[in-house]
Amino acid sequence: MSGMKTLPLSLVLSALAAWLPGPAKAAAPAPAGQPAAPSGSLKTFEADGRASLKELYRGMDLLASGKAWTVETVFVDQGLPVKVLRSKRKGPAVWVIAGIHGEEPAPPNAVLQSRARLNALAVNGIPIVVFPLCNPVGYSKNWRYPDAARASEKNPGHSVGDSDHLLLGKDGKPRVPKATSPQADALTRKVLSLAKEYPPVISIDLHEDDELDKGYLYSQGPKGRADLAAKAVVARIRELGFPVMASGKTRFDEEVIDGVISDVSDGSVDELMASTRTFVNGGAVKGPSARSALVVETSSKGRPLSERVRVHSEVIVLIPELFRLAYQ
Ligand SMILES: [Zn+2]
Repeated sequence: MSGMKTLPLSLVLSALAAWLPGPAKAAAPAPAGQPAAPSGSLKTFEADGRASLKELYRGMDLLASGKAWTVETVFVDQGLPVKVLRSKRKGPAVWVIAGIHGEEPAPPNAVLQSRARLNALAVNGIPIVVFPLCNPVGYSKNWRYPDAARASEKNPGHSVGDSDHLLLGKDGKPRVPKATSPQADALTRKVLSLAKEYPPVISIDLHEDDELDKGYLYSQGPKGRADLAAKAVVARIRELGFPVMASGKTRFDEEVIDGVISDVSDGSVDELMASTRTFVNGGAVKGPSARSALVVETSSKGRPLSERVRVHSEVIVLIPELFRLAYQ
């Protein structure tokens, strides 16, 4: 974690002090002459009232048009770009990941609606990396994966966040010889390359689950269940009236204690974010070593999308505090 010491705490705190809660400035409109946002080649699933792909891409363009941002296309999947936005200021950073699973619309919609707050973070000097929609094909069809509506025995599907090809097994070799899909290959490659310039202090991967009665949070970083940022997110979700599992087991047989699961090796991009060693170009290298790697899993069962978007938006509101807690 020595890399984390490069940004003095005083600088972090002064950046946080510049953060003003309340309505933030709207992102600047796209400059005239900018190419129109791609509307995508697929019609967006609309039964649940989610924003269309066109609206999501328009939101990304608006955010990227602010002076504090750089935007890049990570991968183009069936004509739909996967984009990553990052602050021009580099350094130990906040990472926000949304839309890994296409049947979970609340997180990408929350990112869309939180544009002004995200912009304010970058404007106020906090290095930040945002993946607003990691799986546009899945989102457009309400499919979990680009290649499968849901995991089944016949067709397990491939997550765009699959990272086992970069994570080390017990034998010191990668757990699988190659990425499970071109989407996962591109996404995880981009994560590792950006992590060099934007080492993650905290990464927040937003998910929801319609099979859950109560939500929970994965804490993949070195502090595990003791992670204060994890506790703060759980507390906020509870305050908002969303149920959080106090203790027990998930349907994946993971132990929840006071809303938090830790010590999970699931080959996810979140495990990759927290990993202190990864396998790249035939050898083990350091990083990305996030101090805090959170996966928010809210219950979407029986709740309108607007409420679900609100709870994820409120997690984004917490970012300055989470960034501070992750340094502790
Ligand atoms: Zn999910």
